[in-house]
Amino acid sequence: MKVILAQPRGFCAGVVRAVEIVERALQKYGPPVYVRHEIVHNKHVVERLKAKGACFVEDLSEVPSDAVTIFSAHGVAKAVEEQASSQNLWVLNATCPLVTKVHNQGKRYVGQGRVLILIGHAGHPEVEGTMGQITGPVLLVQNEREVDALDVPVDTPVAYVTQTTLSVDDTRGIIAALQRRFNDIIGPDTRDICYATQNRQSAVRELCKLVDVILVVGANNSSNSNRLREIGADAGIPSYLIADGSELNPGWVRDAEVVGLTAGASAPEILVEDVVAALRRLGPVEVTTLPGREETIEFRLPPELADATRGISSTTGAEP
Ligand code: SF4
Repeated sequence: MKVILAQPRGFCAGVVRAVEIVERALQKYGPPVYVRHEIVHNKHVVERLKAKGACFVEDLSEVPSDAVTIFSAHGVAKAVEEQASSQNLWVLNATCPLVTKVHNQGKRYVGQGRVLILIGHAGHPEVEGTMGQITGPVLLVQNEREVDALDVPVDTPVAYVTQTTLSVDDTRGIIAALQRRFNDIIGPDTRDICYATQNRQSAVRELCKLVDVILVVGANNSSNSNRLREIGADAGIPSYLIADGSELNPGWVRDAEVVGLTAGASAPEILVEDVVAALRRLGPVEVTTLPGREETIEFRLPPELADATRGISSTTGAEP
């Protein structure tokens, strides 16, 4: 069997930064360090950090006052920031700078007197954070049907922003529907879907031309991983989301000569290697990597952590 690895795949700069913030906080302040929500949507990453002393909570009421508390890469609503402040928590913000950029863009549009439309998935923490960061009317649309159902007069000045991890194709259709619906509508110059999401989606499209089956390493609740799987499926390639090698169903690859393998932005490379090892247990495997875009983007850490060292490699999830 041939296995072709997508390039790029796996951890993005926002995830590397978020994981590193937790690692460095543990090193600098010692455990426990509290993290609101999964720092990134990957159980493997979360379990490793738990073993080092990170405590994951869904609500800040579970955090003792004065504790070191980290907000996840997805961002938080203003109300969460205010609650942290009222509990005297020492906050380190791991919100991805590209998510913060969406918050700021949305605030600017609302400041211009526009009704803001957020294109995203209801219930996703990034969407809750973005809606909760912006004072003023923010309407969520998830698909073109919901654009038609918006109860907003056509000549209302509106603007749109998007969740960072959507499929470029899905978003294009929704934006076109919004532009048909409203006379006065603006959006960001370059759409808010982030570079890492776009690059991983482009790489899967390339994979689709070459493979019989696509495996996407990622968690069920990882938005960008689900979108990668959907792109494969929409291209007519059987595509499966897989957390690690233990979830490999031999039936998925039984008739495949070429398997495409990629990973969502929150999945460490060690899990890709684990899936390759599981494929090898089924028979001989030849692994190659697609030529792809090299990513050099890095995001700066909060200044208070610049002098702390990290405990594990953020890129591989492996011990040094
Ligand atoms: S996928 Fe994009 S927006 Fe999300 S954490 Fe990574 S770099 Fe940031």
